Amino acid sequence: MNPVSILWPMIAGACVVLAVVQLLLRLHDRNAQANLWLALLALAVAGIAVGELAIMMAGSPEVFAGATRWTHLPVFIAVIAIVRFVSCCFGTARAWFGWAVIGLRAFALALNFSVGLNLHHDAITALRPIRFLGSTVMTAEAVFSQRTLVGQLSTLLLLAFVVDASLGLWRKGDADSRRRALVIGGSLMAFVAMGLFQSVLIHSGVVAMPYLISVPFLLVIAAMSFEMSRDLFRSARNAEELREGAESMHLAAGAAGLAFWRWEIPQDRIWVNPQGRALYGVPANTPINLERYLASLHAEDRERVRRGIDAALKGNGEFRTDYRVMDEEGKVHWVEARGKVDFNGGGKPLRMRGVSIDATERRQMQERFRLSVEASPNGVVLANAAGSILLTNRRANEMLGYGPEELLGQPVESLVPERYRSAQASYREGFLRAPESRTMGVGRELHALRKDGSEFPIEIGISPVESPEGTLVLSVIVDISARREAEDEARRHRDELAHVTRVSALSELSGSLAHELNQPLAIILANAQAALRLMAQSPPDLGEVKDILSDIVDEDRRAGEVIKRLRVLLKRGETKMLPVSFNEIATEVLHLTHADLIGRGVSVSRILSQDLPLVSGDRVQLQQVLLNLVLNAADAMAASPAGSRQLHVATSVDDVVARLSVRDEGCGLPGDVEKLFEPFYTTKPQGLGMGLAICRSIVAAHGGRLRAEPHPEGGAIFYMEIPTCPPAASS
Ligand code: ADP
Repeated sequence: MNPVSILWPMIAGACVVLAVVQLLLRLHDRNAQANLWLALLALAVAGIAVGELAIMMAGSPEVFAGATRWTHLPVFIAVIAIVRFVSCCFGTARAWFGWAVIGLRAFALALNFSVGLNLHHDAITALRPIRFLGSTVMTAEAVFSQRTLVGQLSTLLLLAFVVDASLGLWRKGDADSRRRALVIGGSLMAFVAMGLFQSVLIHSGVVAMPYLISVPFLLVIAAMSFEMSRDLFRSARNAEELREGAESMHLAAGAAGLAFWRWEIPQDRIWVNPQGRALYGVPANTPINLERYLASLHAEDRERVRRGIDAALKGNGEFRTDYRVMDEEGKVHWVEARGKVDFNGGGKPLRMRGVSIDATERRQMQERFRLSVEASPNGVVLANAAGSILLTNRRANEMLGYGPEELLGQPVESLVPERYRSAQASYREGFLRAPESRTMGVGRELHALRKDGSEFPIEIGISPVESPEGTLVLSVIVDISARREAEDEARRHRDELAHVTRVSALSELSGSLAHELNQPLAIILANAQAALRLMAQSPPDLGEVKDILSDIVDEDRRAGEVIKRLRVLLKRGETKMLPVSFNEIATEVLHLTHADLIGRGVSVSRILSQDLPLVSGDRVQLQQVLLNLVLNAADAMAASPAGSRQLHVATSVDDVVARLSVRDEGCGLPGDVEKLFEPFYTTKPQGLGMGLAICRSIVAAHGGRLRAEPHPEGGAIFYMEIPTCPPAASS
């Protein structure tokens, strides 16, 4: 065997293998047109190799000429395949150029079969054996034809076509395109150029050798294999990534209970993953189509879902719905599904892909939330970050005077009286910056606005609620009108009671007060009589009369003061909170009780702080408290020996608290001091036992406290303590 007869069949065989591989690839991927053309090219080159072998081994000039003629057929096919391959693979070839190349080659083929022996020879006189690659092969002693030029021209045109397309690809600039232009374009160019060059050399008689097109094609095979192996490698990697992706997706879907599905619309076939089958209660091997899917839904939801699907197919392809399904155990589940329809170029729906999820738990939680909100005895309003109301419960609607869903979508500002509205938005922003539960408007009165424009006092607790739509604000509103009314009522009763006890305390003073009034009146009377006498003299002593009259005025004033103080205390009136000084209260009460205390043999010492801040209070009520303490102190000392009945009244300030103390040196306090402050506790035969109870409630209403303790030196000491006004208010 000579090497040529081994090599050429091997080349042909390699080409066929390549062709088969490419055909398989093409079968696998219907879009791989380039593989088809490459397969055809490889087959054509296999044909050329066979032709070349026949030529080299020809036994006669006729066989030589015939083999040459038939070899042009695979050459023609190879040209078509190259043009089409370059067009598909590069995407940059000019179509007209390609057709020109094929046309010219077709013309050459026509000449090959119609004129002379073949495209190259007009006549072959003899065959001449030559040594080639260690073998003896035949060349022709021939008359070469001018038609060869047509063949050479078509090869030249093919070369130009490949160069042009490769340049186009190169200009795309990305690394992949450039490599492809270089490897495939370059190898094709080299193949075509070598074929052309060889043909020129043989025809000009420079060399005597057989036509060898198939050998340079090995170069192309190598280049193509290189490129294709890269593609194969890449697709293998992609496949691996896809597999990993699909696996993670599968795991995630399993963990999240996600059902993936795909509906091939023309075939009406639905694929769904195992989670989906479990969700819809469809056994593993049962095929699913649209009707089977709809049959798995709750009867009441079927028509709605069908309409949703129709709308998606006819509209923009978006499918979004929820419905109930029954699982294998007959339990009802809520499912939320979303899908998207793929349309073909003509707008015909091809498939719908989507996911479904079991939303039962979420629904249940939402329902539980809704029920607990609905059952709340307080008003509940849920709003989003923009202040738009998302949910209200029945109580809130009742409270605010709205219908069941009337408030949804309204701004929360519509529930706030006009005068507070401007502050509302900034308050909400502040809350969302630091979202935590809190009570709104501590220390100030809050009001809500009803639909009819009326207002009512409220307390509000607000809490942040995290949701997929961002942080929501949950407000719990308590209508405190009833409580306010009860408080007002209680205050009125306390005022009443305070008035009664005040009157009763004053009645104790009535004797001494009468005395206090009698005294100036007696003086006035005596002075008036004296004045009359002086006026009766002739001439009247007007200077003396004038002095007397001014004494009368003084005494009258004194009596007037007593009456004025009494009137103030006896008046029944509304509580008026104004800045007031403990020192003034002490002075006024000690004035009022002056005569009474003297009458009881009680002497008073007072130590009043000079820089005592004011407190906010009702003057009359605070006087009442002190009056009560002073009279109780005097009572407690009633049994003490005369001369030791000492009353100490003092005022002081301790940080932000003003303190007024009343100390006596009397009988002292019982062990359980708190008992004194209980209503109706008294040790006095005529006592009501309400004095200290009332006093304590008065002081508590001022935000302060009233307490008592035994004094170390005997007797008792009572403290009235009330927070001082802030500096601005005191000034
Ligand atoms: P009343 O004076 O009508 O008894 P109060 O509520 O003012 O009612 O006083 C209740 C009781 O507290 C008095 O009866 C007395 O026993 C006791 N008490 C009040 N002040 C003093 C005091 N300074 N020293 C001792 N006991 C006092």
